Amino acid sequence: MTLIRADLDALPAYVPGRAVPGAVKLASNEVPLPPPASVLAAVAEAAAGGNRYPDLAVTTLTERLARELDLPPERVAVGCGSVSLCQQLVNITCLGPADEVVYAWRSFEAYPIVTQVGGATSRPIPLTDDFRHDLDAMAAAVGPATRLIMVCSPNNPTGTVVTRAELERFLAAVGPDVVVALDEAYYEYVTADDAVDGRDLVDAYPNLVVLRTFSKAYRLAGLRVGYAFGAPEVVAALRKVGSPFAVSVVAQAGAMAALEVKEELLASVPGVVSERDRVRDALLGLGYVVPPTQSNFVWLALGERTAAFAAHHMDHKVIVRPFAADGVRVTVSSPEENDLLLAAAASFVAN
Ligand SMILES: *Cc1c(COP(=O)(O)O)cnc(C)c1O
Repeated sequence: MTLIRADLDALPAYVPGRAVPGAVKLASNEVPLPPPASVLAAVAEAAAGGNRYPDLAVTTLTERLARELDLPPERVAVGCGSVSLCQQLVNITCLGPADEVVYAWRSFEAYPIVTQVGGATSRPIPLTDDFRHDLDAMAAAVGPATRLIMVCSPNNPTGTVVTRAELERFLAAVGPDVVVALDEAYYEYVTADDAVDGRDLVDAYPNLVVLRTFSKAYRLAGLRVGYAFGAPEVVAALRKVGSPFAVSVVAQAGAMAALEVKEELLASVPGVVSERDRVRDALLGLGYVVPPTQSNFVWLALGERTAAFAAHHMDHKVIVRPFAADGVRVTVSSPEENDLLLAAAASFVAN
């Protein structure tokens, strides 16, 4: 007899981006600026009422997001970060090990974790040679056991997108009986005209649910707010399985205030977009393999040199995010911080 269910021994722990005093942190795709003053004020005011439980149904924020999306509120669910909503998606679709979750790999490292925690079985499908979702292979992997498919666009950690035409073809191939989740955590950074926008497709595909977050472009990673939108049936189920009161008073107030200053927050996006191209071009010039990115990070396909690259950068006080023997993800930050990365990347090549 053991106290804890045996399968958790094999569960990979979520690896947070490291923080080291004095080092530049390019490991977690955050924006390196604190929330705007008006958001901080709203958070402080909400904290003053912290003796009371939050609004369980997250009514005001849900209505506000619904308005932004031009959807009825019953088609929007707010969660404690979109990672929580990923777990809720597994919980509303899968009952046990016979139920499968299909996702691209390498992709967001939370997918295998939430799948296993939910007691379901992972079906990871390798990315193509150009680091994109292999949607044909994913569609071919769908069978009677498939309950949920995670599609990540832009894909964390490779930065590549799925096009609208590709996703529509995929949805047609999968059919209406499997939930397809489109994770758009980096939605605000997408500039490609042909990239998928989940909002354009949710009305036509009731099995499609879209995830977005306040953690990235909205600069509220520490407050924990994400949201899902899709068919009322899916959204109602997501609400049922969410932990009660998971979205705190502070999180709800912070997200509301952030939406009030949306233009100010998103004003930093064009700078990141131009920097990501500059950083990628410089890395390509140094000989690195870097796929085109539609996000606020770049992927360096370093293979066996991954650990050495990460250690070299740590020596140069630049914290990057290594993924086993696949590669390194680096957040695109301010021009000054990006220059520190490029200098270290240049000296790594010279070694
Ligand atoms: C960062 C990220 C999220 C956001 O997670 P939160 O829980 O909202 O902070 C979701 N999906 C992907 C792919 C991410 O990279």
